[in-house]
Amino acid sequence: MKFQSTRGTDRVSLSDALRRGIAPDGGLYVPEYFPKFATGDADETAFQELARMALAPFFEGDELEHRLGAIVDEAFDFPVPLVDLGQTTSLLELFHGPSAAFKDFGARFLASAMTRLESGEAKPLTILVATSGDTGGAVASAFWRKPGIDVVVLYPDGKVSARQAHQLACWGDNVRTFAVEGVFDDCQRMVKEAFASEAWNNAFRLSSANSINIGRLLPQMTYYAASSLWYQARHGVAPGFVIPSGNVGNATAAVWAREMGFPVREIVFATNANQPLVRWLQTGVYAPEPSIATLANAMDVGAPSNMERLLHLHAAPTDWMRGVSVSDDAIRATIAAGEETWDQVFCPHTACAMAARQHVGGEHWICVSTAHPAKFDTVVEPLVGHPVAVPAALGALLQRPANATTIPAELSMLWEQLTHH
Ligand SMILES: *Cc1c(COP(=O)(O)O)cnc(C)c1O
Repeated sequence: MKFQSTRGTDRVSLSDALRRGIAPDGGLYVPEYFPKFATGDADETAFQELARMALAPFFEGDELEHRLGAIVDEAFDFPVPLVDLGQTTSLLELFHGPSAAFKDFGARFLASAMTRLESGEAKPLTILVATSGDTGGAVASAFWRKPGIDVVVLYPDGKVSARQAHQLACWGDNVRTFAVEGVFDDCQRMVKEAFASEAWNNAFRLSSANSINIGRLLPQMTYYAASSLWYQARHGVAPGFVIPSGNVGNATAAVWAREMGFPVREIVFATNANQPLVRWLQTGVYAPEPSIATLANAMDVGAPSNMERLLHLHAAPTDWMRGVSVSDDAIRATIAAGEETWDQVFCPHTACAMAARQHVGGEHWICVSTAHPAKFDTVVEPLVGHPVAVPAALGALLQRPANATTIPAELSMLWEQLTHH
């Protein structure tokens, strides 16, 4: 299997696509084709085994081919429950990893794969991550103490929740965290400037761990593969998925799982008040816009980077895709009613999926739960009227001392910190 750029004819191995992150022509790597998976009944205990089977064709012929089993076992060392909320709605809980958000799947898989690629290099790999909250925590946790890899996290000072900030800055060793005096766009600009700078590229071996990397997309297919088979085994029909979407990496992975022949009936893209994706699904016209701040802040994206992958595969929306945009008021109402309606406390992102599920009606939906509500305690607790218990892994992180260095939003200030301290 080779991977090609969405913008041209560049054709590389999986390992090279992982190393590069973005293609030299500025495009994103996608598989050359989607192998068809012969689906049968699936044992629910076998998530890791299903993950290996779903990913094996993409690793065929690559230098990592014989490491896939070890990568899966190391990266996916937490449960992936599919909880039936009633006869026709289930919840796929993707928040049981160390950072309590689904980004653990992609970040941990990428870390496990990259460590196996990197052995033998003299200069460490420096991974620069700009984060609006969740990605940085998952990436820092995944790469912490991995040999031969340094991580530099930039987040906007004062713009993430207190628990998110703690999770970004509680690492040490090979992870350094900077609170940038600016907004998320400043952090992203600094990272882009570093990648474009000769001085930076001479001093460091730079790489990226954001969702443009194919190494974060592929592992996200595995839970759609597994849960669609589990649902079909339990209920005798193929489920549809309702997926909280921002940069559309998670939902693109669901589309890919469907291309492989896993029993995915249809896909609902649930967004917050940021509309470009839903407008494309409704009108066929895609027009990015500046992002709007909402309660579901990990989905505050006006120009989703993975649209390029989606449009490459389907230039127009298909009849099995739908979009629903959810307002902050509807997010609040869904969280407030969650315990009475579904016996669940939802994070604001998952609440978008639950609100969209109510909107589309019908039967046999799997709603995707992307984060644990305790990560967003300041939004969720006033709405449900009681404290939300913190999961053990997140609790352990919150016990650790946190240490971020505050810097002005200038790349030269980061250079100063990394080269002189
Ligand atoms: C990142 C994130 C999303 C959005 O996922 P995309 O792949 O960017 O569409 C949704 N929910 C949570 C909790 C997230 O951290």
